[in-house]
Amino acid sequence: MESIAQNPWAALAYLVAGVCFILALRGLSSPATSQRGNRAGMIGMTIAVVTTLATHVPRIAPHCPTGAICENYGTPVLDTLTLVELLAAIGIGAAIGIVTARRIAMTAMPQLVAAFHSLVGLAAVLVAGAAFLNPGAFGIASDGVIFLQSRIEMGLGVAIGAITFSGSVIAFLKLNGNMGGKPILLPGRHVINLGMLAAILGLIAYFTQDQSPWIFWTVTALSFAIGFLLIIPIGGADMPVVVSMLNSYSGWAAAAMGFTLHNSAMIITGALVGSSGAILSYIMCRAMNRSFLSVIAGGFGGDAGGGASGAAAVDRPWKRGSAEDAAFLMSQAEQVIIVPGYGMAVAQAQHVLREMADKLKAHGVRVKYAIHPVAGRMPGHMNVLLAEANVPYDEVFELEDINSEFAQTDVAFVIGANDVTNPAAKTDKSSPIYGMPILDVEKAKTVLFIKRSMGGVGYAGVDNEVFYRDNTMMLLADAKKMVEEIVKSLD
Ligand code: NDP
Repeated sequence: MESIAQNPWAALAYLVAGVCFILALRGLSSPATSQRGNRAGMIGMTIAVVTTLATHVPRIAPHCPTGAICENYGTPVLDTLTLVELLAAIGIGAAIGIVTARRIAMTAMPQLVAAFHSLVGLAAVLVAGAAFLNPGAFGIASDGVIFLQSRIEMGLGVAIGAITFSGSVIAFLKLNGNMGGKPILLPGRHVINLGMLAAILGLIAYFTQDQSPWIFWTVTALSFAIGFLLIIPIGGADMPVVVSMLNSYSGWAAAAMGFTLHNSAMIITGALVGSSGAILSYIMCRAMNRSFLSVIAGGFGGDAGGGASGAAAVDRPWKRGSAEDAAFLMSQAEQVIIVPGYGMAVAQAQHVLREMADKLKAHGVRVKYAIHPVAGRMPGHMNVLLAEANVPYDEVFELEDINSEFAQTDVAFVIGANDVTNPAAKTDKSSPIYGMPILDVEKAKTVLFIKRSMGGVGYAGVDNEVFYRDNTMMLLADAKKMVEEIVKSLD
């Protein structure tokens, strides 16, 4: 296997790939440049894969016929069998990726992302395991004794990979609805987690002195267990932070793999994903008003056990409106702020919503969109959907830029959002969403609230006081159908 140190062209190609990935991240930071960013990422990945194939497929000496002088018998040729195996693996992976990406519903994206993170974690565990079982093939041992630096890399790589794998599997099950969103709180969980973390670090330190298999496999097993324990106590509304945190872990796992494989492209890419994921986690923590440390410790904010208020209290008085009422109120308004949420994604109502906004603008109404950082089921979920419907970017505002405007707004039009508008986050200490900043829709003169039934609750599973306010009119229907009716009435 040719090392990067021996091949400066490969090192240069990996550097170019790294620059492409940085440009990709930069492009993806805004919907306007995201397609360019995606293209840069694809180019970078193609360069990295082709370079790896060109430099890592082994070369073998040509067959030497009997009776010939075999020394220096022709130049070595590519081992085509290995090349075919690698291309077949890439082909199978690409086919699965293409079919999944084409079939997946937009609403299932968060669980797909969690599933893909779990694969990165598993890959890190498998690479570390392979390197441990056959260190000579990876060039990380002399006479069977693994180098000190490689033991540290392998120990950390297998631990981060296993935590990413089991944590992502739990996140997948929670986001996919196979596991309830409520936190599962084990007694003394912080002590258990800290004890296990100390044991993992202690064993990795011991592994640097003694490469006995039991140490390596115990680190692996404990790391699988702690990944599971860290995620099960995290309840409903805090899942967004978990998703971005696992994203970060998957990057560090890939970087650790890069060290084991002596592959600088993987080290650069892993570090980019790891650090950008960590920054995103930090931003999400700030958006949710949670402390970063408590996220890492697991089970923050979970002691409320799913919220004091419970499911919707359907017996309280509330006002029901029709599409005609909504069309009339909005056409008379000076400003309407649209608050999209997960229900808009479920109903795929973004296109007809933009049509409604166009009609309102034609009536002389000022229309803005307010985006909560955790609206929907993945970071940036609402921005992606609105961009898909060609909503102008200058009409879309982040929470901190628009929240003060609700008090001077005639209509807040809430479409499939719930938790992100719930004032219990400000007042009810026992609520699982307590402390999370919310969009102050209730301060608008009128709140139009689209959801399908009064019984349905948001992701955090708690009732919303806004439904019962005097200035709220509930529009109970599928979001797309209701907005289509409103568009007809506006005509
Ligand atoms: P919520 O999940 O709080 O509420 C969704 C609302 O949409 C419900 O009131 C539901 O009521 C309604 N709804 C569902 N389907 C439809 C439909 N077809 N038509 C009309 N209404 C519909 O969503 P939010 O966006 O307000 O909040 C996001 C929540 O998800 C937060 O708690 C957040 O922490 C969490 N989360 C966010 C992630 C992220 O990264 N953004 C990741 C994981 C979790 P009904 O059933 O009655 O129709």
